Amino acid sequence: MKLHEYQAKELFKGFGIPVPGGRLAHTGDEAFQAAGELKGPPWVVKAQVHAGGRGKGGGVKVVQTLEDVRKAAAAILETPLVTKQTGPEGRKVHQVLVEEGVQIDREFYLAVVVDRARARPVMIFSQAGGMEIEEVAARTPELVLKQFVDPNTGWMPYQARTLAYSVEPLPGPDTLKDLMALMGKLYKAFISLDCSLAEINPLVITRDGKVLAVDAKINVDDNALARQKELKALDDPKEKDPLDAKAEAHNLNYIRLSGNIGAMVNGAGLAMATMDVIKLAGAEPANFLDVGGGASEEMVTRGLEIILEDKKVKAILINIFGGILRCDVLARGVLAAAEKTAIKVPLIVRLEGTNVEEGRKILQESNLTFMVAKDMADAAAMVTEQVKRSA
Ligand code: ADP
Ligand code: MG
Repeated sequence: MKLHEYQAKELFKGFGIPVPGGRLAHTGDEAFQAAGELKGPPWVVKAQVHAGGRGKGGGVKVVQTLEDVRKAAAAILETPLVTKQTGPEGRKVHQVLVEEGVQIDREFYLAVVVDRARARPVMIFSQAGGMEIEEVAARTPELVLKQFVDPNTGWMPYQARTLAYSVEPLPGPDTLKDLMALMGKLYKAFISLDCSLAEINPLVITRDGKVLAVDAKINVDDNALARQKELKALDDPKEKDPLDAKAEAHNLNYIRLSGNIGAMVNGAGLAMATMDVIKLAGAEPANFLDVGGGASEEMVTRGLEIILEDKKVKAILINIFGGILRCDVLARGVLAAAEKTAIKVPLIVRLEGTNVEEGRKILQESNLTFMVAKDMADAAAMVTEQVKRSA
């Protein structure tokens, strides 16, 4: 689960990590008000979306007057923000963070993530902050320093010294002390909040020698949300693709993709194989959807509805190998969805396994129009045919 910058900063404050003064706003007027209560000029208006690279995409604006705060906020809220991470259609901005502008002297990168290979947290630090860390790592890997943390001992002071004393030129003693202390606080936040990522980019030293988190990013491990109830309340459904959100609400394993062949499958393995078959046929899958072994008729119906709501879908392939999910249950679920939403695109069905005869009979006796595929190869051929026709 991702958090917004303003939420992450609020949490960081609780761990003693200093951040610039800031207020959340939903309109230009609110932003104007907010800035009036903060130190400035300058002020910084920042789009709150779950995507990085906002600075380069025009989602972070530094302004000198209260009137410009209002204008900048209104402009950011008005047009979808396009960054490297949003895709070309961009992301609607529902709120902005208005912040005190900081006089930045130096920018660093600091983050804690889980290193899967070593099965432990790693603190990553770089003097080349402000930029995307992936770029720094690709171009100048020697500037990306890592300290792996033994979970039994936790973050050790010598590790903070190793990272901080690599900085050239070395900051003054008070600044250096604050920098090292901040590393320990970030590690503490990472562990206490069950994060999969806690990142500050940039972590800055101001012209008067203060250490400050100017950006903040927290991802919480979904598997820990059961015990992080306060964090779960920070989830923002507006940031999710509406179809993804609907699938999540119905416990469907759905991932929206960019192609035009919708697929409904039971079992993740078969779903992967089905996507392969679609690709082999020269088409692109519109989604990954595993309705699951224990799917009810209701879940099948919702799954098909989600596929039908995706305007990009030009044909649908239902590929079910009945086991725990019986073919008759699947068939009834499909019919229930078809009753609610007319299926206007070609429907290809391949059914095998438990209660397959009954499932086929239910479909055949309905007034649903569909094509029957004998097997996967047949299904692939039919998909190819449909792709050619719609082209
Ligand atoms: P993103 O990573 O999405 O581009 P950041 O929060 O890192 O967004 O902001 C981009 C840049 O804008 C920062 O690297 C920093 O130089 C500047 N910036 C952001 N917030 C402030 C602030 N409060 N004061 C001064 N500069 C800021
Ligand atoms: Mg940043």
